[in-house]
Amino acid sequence: MNTNKTYRLVLLGAPGAGKGTQAERLTEKYSVPQISTGVILRAAIEAGTDLGKKVKELIENGKLVPDEDVVAIVGQRIAEKDCENGFILDGFPRTIPQAEALDRLLDENGTALDAVLSIEVKDEDIVTRMSGRRVCKKCGASYHVVYKRPKNGNLCDNCGTELVSREDDKVEVVMGRLEAYHKQTAPLKDYYAAKGLLVTVQGREELADTSAAVDEALKNL
Ligand code: ADP
Repeated sequence: MNTNKTYRLVLLGAPGAGKGTQAERLTEKYSVPQISTGVILRAAIEAGTDLGKKVKELIENGKLVPDEDVVAIVGQRIAEKDCENGFILDGFPRTIPQAEALDRLLDENGTALDAVLSIEVKDEDIVTRMSGRRVCKKCGASYHVVYKRPKNGNLCDNCGTELVSREDDKVEVVMGRLEAYHKQTAPLKDYYAAKGLLVTVQGREELADTSAAVDEALKNL
């Protein structure tokens, strides 16, 4: 294995743009872990930890969790051994202060991001997509009733657990999350473009088309 090659990637995109799905795929392709703050936070809620109790209401109402909490989660996670050759960050950073904190964390280790991929999807398409999204409460895997169907009924392909709709995928909440994305997260595109790290792809209806566009955009990594 070539240990010099690193894949430290950030995926950006509106809620439901397909970040999680692409992250799951890229994690296999590059043999680096996926770090999804949304999955970690939902697991904390499910497990009833102190963090879970603190963030439950915020998440269910489509509000962002405080920067310090997510920065602490990511700081610990990327320090683990399996992140040595990289990671696929999905859902973090979501604000400029989070991006600055990530730069500092990486800088302290003498490393840096390799690329930031933004998946672009129009707001009106997002709202339609979200209604069909289903997630596994146990392992966090994400599905869609039309675009990414589970192999076996309404059960998770990985662990066989029944799939559910997310509380924050209700239309009213999705609108708030989209607003948070445009106000707080979209400015990260300029932040990373200025560092020469940003690559952009159009999210397509068909998963295979988006995957092909992502692979093409990242081929020079
Ligand atoms: P999506 O990408 O579909 O919006 P996520 O699973 O990434 O969903 O996030 C779900 C929710 O978790 C967000 O709406 C927010 O409340 C919280 N969250 C996840 N990541 C972060 C983050 N980096 N900063 C603040 N809040 C976050």
